[in-house]
Amino acid sequence: MSYVAPLKDMLFVMNELAGLSAVNALPNCEDATPETVEAILEENAKFCGEVIAPLNHSADKEPSFWHDGKVTTSKGFKEAFRQFADAGWQGVQHPVEFGGQGLPKLVATPCIEMLNSANLSFALCPLLTDGTIEALMTAGSDEQKKTYLENFISGKWTGTMNLTEPQAGSDLALVRTRAVPQGDGTYKISGTKIFITFGEHDMAENIVHLVLARTPDAPEGVKGISLFIVPKFLVNADGSLGARNDVHCVSIEHKLGIKASPTAVLQFGDHGGATGMLVGEENRGLEYMFIMMNAARFAVGMQGIAVAERAYQKAVAYAKDRLQSRDLAGSAGAVTIIHQPDVRRMLMSMRAQVEAARALAYVAAAASDAGHHHADEATRKANQACYEFLVPIVKGWSTEVSVDVTSTGVQVHGGMGFIEETGAAQYYRDARILPIYEGTTAIQANDLVGRKTVRDGGAVARDLIEQMRATEAQLAAIDSGSYAQDLEVIRKRLADAASSFEAVVAYVVANFKADIKGVFAGSVPYLKLSGVVLGGWQMARAALVAAGKLQAGDGDASFYKAKIVTARFYADHILTQAVSLQAAIVEGSAGVLALTEDQF
Ligand SMILES: Cc1cc2nc3c(=O)[nH]c(=O)nc-3n(C[C@H](O)[C@H](O)[C@H](O)COP(=O)(O)OP(=O)(O)OC[C@H]3O[C@@H](n4cnc5c(N)ncnc54)[C@H](O)[C@@H]3O)c2cc1C
Repeated sequence: MSYVAPLKDMLFVMNELAGLSAVNALPNCEDATPETVEAILEENAKFCGEVIAPLNHSADKEPSFWHDGKVTTSKGFKEAFRQFADAGWQGVQHPVEFGGQGLPKLVATPCIEMLNSANLSFALCPLLTDGTIEALMTAGSDEQKKTYLENFISGKWTGTMNLTEPQAGSDLALVRTRAVPQGDGTYKISGTKIFITFGEHDMAENIVHLVLARTPDAPEGVKGISLFIVPKFLVNADGSLGARNDVHCVSIEHKLGIKASPTAVLQFGDHGGATGMLVGEENRGLEYMFIMMNAARFAVGMQGIAVAERAYQKAVAYAKDRLQSRDLAGSAGAVTIIHQPDVRRMLMSMRAQVEAARALAYVAAAASDAGHHHADEATRKANQACYEFLVPIVKGWSTEVSVDVTSTGVQVHGGMGFIEETGAAQYYRDARILPIYEGTTAIQANDLVGRKTVRDGGAVARDLIEQMRATEAQLAAIDSGSYAQDLEVIRKRLADAASSFEAVVAYVVANFKADIKGVFAGSVPYLKLSGVVLGGWQMARAALVAAGKLQAGDGDASFYKAKIVTARFYADHILTQAVSLQAAIVEGSAGVLALTEDQF
């Protein structure tokens, strides 16, 4: 089945929840008028649906392969990447100065979603190039920006992110790759990096690796890591490609999912030393890489939403087609399975979680735009803090949701879900990497607890709770006619869930020092609770808008009615999980920690 972008929901979320018009009013965002944005999204939807999505299943069956140091990508990828680049899609959110379109993150976000729904494996290449651009924009010299950015944005070259080594995954303090200064401004890089996404491929002229490595006198741990540019082909002073650098792909991995995305083992410096150029200052590499990682983590969260959306679409199509069992209310023969209440429950749980996660991510994107562009410094800072609080949640929660939603998608298909030809299994397999790479869910949760909650004493979290209370008050005040009961239930569930969130934030802040292991025993449930509640808040806001539109007789009544039903489903089935998560976090640490190692 092909992919049809959910443009109506995307535009609803952008306009009504994320505040596209407010983003459009920010300095440097004047081009993002609602009309222009709608036209861009329509064009992107067409491109992703017609060019990229058809390659998803075939590429899974015939993955990219390695031969003699070279990687041949799946059939059709090279040509599709050229079309992607030529149409300017790599540059949506990047500066006009370097050939991009300079549009806000809020506009790039649905484009990222569509590309990933169409084909998760393919989308990884632009995703990592985006991260490379962000890192060089922030920490690169003018010369480096001039040399690389235009080539990335035009799709002539692509970027990669080289953190992981066999002994250094979640813990980058253990990075061993060496960088020895040569006295001419360059460094000789040597070492092995593993799991490097699109570390070698045939879709672009050059591949530019951003590599974490240590200089000889660097301090131990994360404070001694520097960031280097190591291109596959060195770049001459006039910008043309020069000698082949000493970085080689020695193999690619055979994986559970995203099979068409080549995951490379890269060997640096086996033949005399790879030439690298320092980015920024020595020993500040991790700081710079975090810039890239924040962008990439947000994008991986979008991957989760994207694959979940595609799985939902497929499950709906199957449920409307598969004849099985009679209708409980009585029918002459078998009916399509969408008539079975449990199948509806599954579809609603997929739909509700996708919509909630999408809304939260787009709201985060708008906060990032205000954090960058708002004229007032205090507003900029508050929005940036809000965005940074939301990044681990968008990454951690949306990707965990994607595993759940794609698994439910398999279940809707029954036995056929387990058979590869339907495609439902691929979404499940593809989704499974998302809570692992770019920092596992536990690493996102550590970030949420330490840097994002405890460091400011829970200030950003409390600010979000205040905003939830305001939504609650609006829900109590609105005259919503025939939807009054739904809105009242949504209000009550949101109030209870916000109280759970508040209690947990207070617990985390109060106990972080005295019972650090106890707090971290509940870190992933805290992340999940944050996602469940903040996503539920967005669904409540959506229901409010929908009720207002219905009262005013404004727009597509069927869409708005469905929004209220979906928000009500979310409130009853998902938001109610907040209370049990609260108990697990606040009272459940002993059960996590009590057994001795030899009792396992
Ligand atoms: C397909 C694929 C593509 C990838 N692409 C890239 C890439 O492009 N560039 C790149 O540099 N890397 C990439 N990676 C690597 C990826 O980011 C790491 O695999 C990931 O960060 C986890 O590290 P690890 O595999 O070493 O697991 P480990 O760090 O060994 O973790 C194992 C388990 O221990 C837990 N754990 C570890 N430390 C902690 C902690 N402090 N607190 C709580 N729990 C903890 C983890 O959550 C996990 O459950 C990729 C990996 C894969 C599989």
